[in-house]
Amino acid sequence: MKKIGVLTSGGDAPGMNAAVVAVALNAAMYGIPLVGIKRGYNGLLRKSESLSDDMEELRLDTVLDIADRPGTYLRTARCAEFMDPQWRKFAADTLRAMDIGGLVVIGGDGSFQGARHLCHLGIPCIGIPGTIDNDLAYTEMTLGYDTAVNVCVDAVRAIRATSRSHDRPHVVEVMGRHCGDIALTTAVSTGAEIVLVPEVRWSVEKVAARLREQIAKGNYRTTIIVAEGCWESMEPFDMYTFLNAHGKRCYEGEPISAYRFASILKRMCGNVEARATVIGYTQRGEQPTARDSAFAFEAGNLAVRLLRDGISNQVVGMREGKVFYMSIDEALKEKRHFRRELYNLVNRM
Ligand code: ADP
Repeated sequence: MKKIGVLTSGGDAPGMNAAVVAVALNAAMYGIPLVGIKRGYNGLLRKSESLSDDMEELRLDTVLDIADRPGTYLRTARCAEFMDPQWRKFAADTLRAMDIGGLVVIGGDGSFQGARHLCHLGIPCIGIPGTIDNDLAYTEMTLGYDTAVNVCVDAVRAIRATSRSHDRPHVVEVMGRHCGDIALTTAVSTGAEIVLVPEVRWSVEKVAARLREQIAKGNYRTTIIVAEGCWESMEPFDMYTFLNAHGKRCYEGEPISAYRFASILKRMCGNVEARATVIGYTQRGEQPTARDSAFAFEAGNLAVRLLRDGISNQVVGMREGKVFYMSIDEALKEKRHFRRELYNLVNRM
């Protein structure tokens, strides 16, 4: 193999740097030069004025210095042009011109689609699942998920302490896009009483009834964990009419949010002082946990081994606690199973 390229694409995730380090260590062990491609697929489209803004030879001493840094040293971005076959061909030609004979793509399912296309254009690619969302069915965990959950668990524990001090219920919104895994695991780990996810339909009225039940039992510190995607599985609710009728100004067509939801619950539950917190980007920018770092190292190592062995068009993942690989096409076809039993347990249904 002449050279290997590596890029991070899509949303950033804790552990992306650790995966790049593992790729660099394995490549260095076999004397294969490594090229870091900047800002996802954008770095292959030669949009910058200087080549060094798009690509950088990754020397081991530079890379070893980023092992314990959060974020992604290579930067990450979305790249709309990559949806266009002509730009993808341009990218494949760029890789060939640079003597890059294999590419490691660290990102989510969208990034894997891009890698699949590059494989069909003759560029051997291996994908590493880098996303906090845990929304890839073929793998038990994605890089960054464990860290994101731990950030949420720490935050919810602190919130539950202040909730208890003030006898206030709290709505806590966590990330995950269309996947409720971060929300569910956070709920299970913190003793939250209610969890709402995009995978299961729910209604404002029923959540309010559950909250009233808790209050009647003397529990004023109910925690309601909501996944950022849960609003898409909410039964229709006329927030505008409800809030305005209860003396709270709200404009027509305003989308619901964790803050508005807390406001609605307050008015449905005897004016209990419900509050809301949106945890946000700390979930993505934290140092990776040991579990994420270890997975990153094993995944990065395996990715380069596959390329060296001439195996491509594969994604690396975790199954039954072990790192494994399978074809990108098959991996992307797998359907996610939401842990409904756990969900029912938290919501005591
Ligand atoms: P993620 O990789 O985290 O799922 P996105 O879905 O935003 O994030 O995808 C990241 C990038 O991957 C996109 O900006 C685009 O460059 C590329 N990509 C996504 N979907 C495709 C596709 N169907 N074909 C080619 N490239 C794609």
